Amino acid sequence: MTGLNHKITATATLALIGASPLELLFTFFFSTIPDRVERIGTKRILVHRGWSHDIGLWSLLLFIFTWDTLFPPHIFRLSPLFSFRTWVLIYPGWFHVLIDAFYKKGVPFFGFFRVSLPILDYGRLNEHFVAWGILIIACCVEGTNLIARVISGAKIIFLELRKRNPEFLIF
Ligand SMILES: [Zn+2]
Repeated sequence: MTGLNHKITATATLALIGASPLELLFTFFFSTIPDRVERIGTKRILVHRGWSHDIGLWSLLLFIFTWDTLFPPHIFRLSPLFSFRTWVLIYPGWFHVLIDAFYKKGVPFFGFFRVSLPILDYGRLNEHFVAWGILIIACCVEGTNLIARVISGAKIIFLELRKRNPEFLIF
């Protein structure tokens, strides 16, 4: 999957299962992390779709980060706008390798064997169809919800500022 399609797919899917705008932003920027750690600048330091793409390792990490006796469920939770759940730290990388499993090359499982369900082709129409399809569905389903949350988040901040300064934005 192209970098942009990875970003779109991971972000739209997280929006569909409910996410704060901050979590969506984080996911958008970090959903290519398994590809990015394979090289420093232009120099390749790890084999492509090797350890950085191990679905066993990423799933184990995701499992550990959802374990709320080990980690608090939220990194912070200030308002519907500014909340961040701990497992979302791992989500972009995990989702990236999950998607890569749908390509011919597949991804390793703890280095033992490769997982591959080849139904997508790099940069081809089927891939764009999946990525943009999920985005359209997410916009339809979550778009209004997200706008409502942005407004309610802005309202909380506004009321807080008004509480501190009763003349805030009164003309
Ligand atoms: Zn990849």
